[in-house]
Parts: sequence; C-alpha cells; structure tokens
Amino acid sequence: MSHRVHNFCAGPCTLPLEVLEEAQQEFVDYHGAGMSLIEMSHRAPEYDAVHGEAMRLAREVFGVPDDFAVLFLQGGATLQFSMIPINFLRAGIKGAYVGSGAWATGAFKDAQKYGDAYLAWDGKDEGYMRMPRTDELTLKPDTRYLHVTSNETIGGIRMVEWPAVDVPLIGDMSSDFMSRPIPWEKFDLVYGGVQKNLGPAGAALVFVRKSALTDANTDVGEYLRYQTHVDKDSLFNTPPVFTIYMVGKVLKWMQANGGLEAMESWAAKKAGRLYRVIDDSDGWYSCPVARENRSHMNVVFRLPDEELEKKFLQEADAAGMKNLKGHRSVGGCRASIYNALPMDSVEALAQFMEQFQRDNG
Ligand SMILES: *Cc1c(COP(=O)(O)O)cnc(C)c1O
Repeated sequence: MSHRVHNFCAGPCTLPLEVLEEAQQEFVDYHGAGMSLIEMSHRAPEYDAVHGEAMRLAREVFGVPDDFAVLFLQGGATLQFSMIPINFLRAGIKGAYVGSGAWATGAFKDAQKYGDAYLAWDGKDEGYMRMPRTDELTLKPDTRYLHVTSNETIGGIRMVEWPAVDVPLIGDMSSDFMSRPIPWEKFDLVYGGVQKNLGPAGAALVFVRKSALTDANTDVGEYLRYQTHVDKDSLFNTPPVFTIYMVGKVLKWMQANGGLEAMESWAAKKAGRLYRVIDDSDGWYSCPVARENRSHMNVVFRLPDEELEKKFLQEADAAGMKNLKGHRSVGGCRASIYNALPMDSVEALAQFMEQFQRDNG
C-alpha cells in the first residue's frame, strides 16, 4: 500500500484511491490491446467505448436533459471565459456578470475583450464576502445571458439561491460540480474545469442547450464554436483521452457511491464539521465570509495572527495534512474538500485544528 496524505489541494485535487489504482492496473496494457490507452488512436474502438461511456455517465449522474449536449473541451474553464462571449455576444447584444470574486472577474474581463459585457452586481467593495440577492442585480435591455460563478474557489463563497431573472443563466461550476443539483430550465450553458471534482486537469466539461446555439456566431475559428463540438461529439480534434478516461472512472465511482444526492449531503456534512470547529473556537479561528454563503467545497479560515497561521500550516503539513495554505491573493488558510476527499481527512483536520487551538490558544 502506498502512503497517502490528507490532500486539501484546491485543484488539481485528491481523487478516489480506487480510481487511481484501477488506472494504474490498466495503464501499460489497456484491456489486452498491447498498448496504453494514451498510445492508441482516438478513433480506435477501445477509446470510442471510453469516450461514449464518459459522455453517458456525465448525462446520467448530472441528470442532463435531452436538449443539452455534453462536451469535453480543452483549455479548462479558462477558455470558456472567452468561448462564451465569442459564441453569444455581438453588436447590440450584452453579457451580464455577477462579480462575485476572482474567477467571476476573470470571466468578466475576458468577455469585455469580445463584446459588451457589464457587471450586474459587484461585490468588490465588500471584499467579495457574499453572493447577491436577485433584487440587487441590475440587468440592462438586450442581455443575452447572466453569468454566475456557483462557488468562488479562492474566496470560499457559494451561491445558494440561483438568481431569478428573465435571461438565461450561464454557470461556471468548476469548483462545486457534482455537489449540487442543476436547475437546467434556468441555464443555457453550464461549465467547469474537471480537475476540482471530476478528474485530472486537461478538460472542461460543458453542458450546452442545443437550441441556444441557433443564433451563435459562426465567423470564428472552428474549435471555438460550440456547434462544432456538438456536431462531432467532442471528437472534432484529438481529445484529451487520458483526462476523459479518468473522468469516466470518477463519475462511475460517484454513481456507485450514491450519485448527486449523496455527494451533496456528504459535502454539507464535511463542510459542517470544519465550520463547527471554527464556530466553537470563540473567535480564535474565523471565517471571513457571510455565513449563508459559506462554501461547501473551499473552507477558508484565519487564525489570530500570521505567525500562528505559519505555524499552523507547518505543523499540519508535518502531520500529513497538505495544501492548506490560502490562495496567495488572500492569504490565511483554505481547506478544499472536494467530492473525492474522504471524511477521514476532514475528521483528521478538524481534530488537528481543535488540538492546535488547545496548544496555542
Ligand atoms: C479553477 C477554476 C477556474 C479555472 O479553471 P481551469 O480549468 O484551470 O482553467 C475557473 N473557475 C473556477 C470557479 C475555478 O475554480
């Protein structure tokens, strides 16, 4: 048995051990083909089966309606920041953005380069500590979509209630994919980089409403058009075969472990354990974000001072709890507790935090 640490990395992140071991076993000689899956043609029957299975499982576990296409695209979630305006914006047609933090800002800034994008709400002056209510959003006429970020991975806030607006939503769900149901009727497009909850880095999983593409722009490079990938089942060019193979395995693992409902309640339970430690610490640990928007995936917290934070991170690391440092832009600590992170890891961290406070408080 290899030695496994408690890995709280924000992405790429911990994956189910069963999945890693299965991939290891199949890696050199894939199902008797005499070569690895990553060495064979992406048109080979072996890969075709892997591709089809990953697509099917994505549809099943996310409960995707028939009028949505499932796409695996390269460039991560970041390329989607450009692809969305490239496909949907043109003269006279606007894209609205909920400015909820670092990732929403990335999406907004890219959209501004391609078209008329504006912030329907901006949390900047409040330090991005919460998500807006619908009545705080200002939408302009001729708005094609409202872009939301369901979970701000760096700030540690989650959108609990989806905005109730008249325009279709587009959602970046990179960091809480498969941990909450998606109200499909509200969305034209949902996307996320897969390396937070679904697999290794190398792809974005995109769900796009096919009828929403009828007015999409066509005068752009082929790869940048959603319709290209819908028509070719994400086999327009060589896909990231290893990533898609791994995502298929993780989705299968999720299905076998109770699917979306189980992942959702599991996430709430794991997050709840850590927030309880924070809340029960008499302010020694503090979570800066609005209580109602606390993320179930990225638990951010501070200690009384930076010296203690440094000591905390050092001792946690030595105790086998890795990657707890907050993002360099905000500091502090962050425990990313994505779907594949075992409850044991959360329990170990919770107990470590309690002990650290007793020893240093
Ligand atoms: C990680 C992340 C991204 C960027 O994902 P890449 O796949 O690295 O491009 C975008 N949005 C959110 C919310 C993220 O957490």
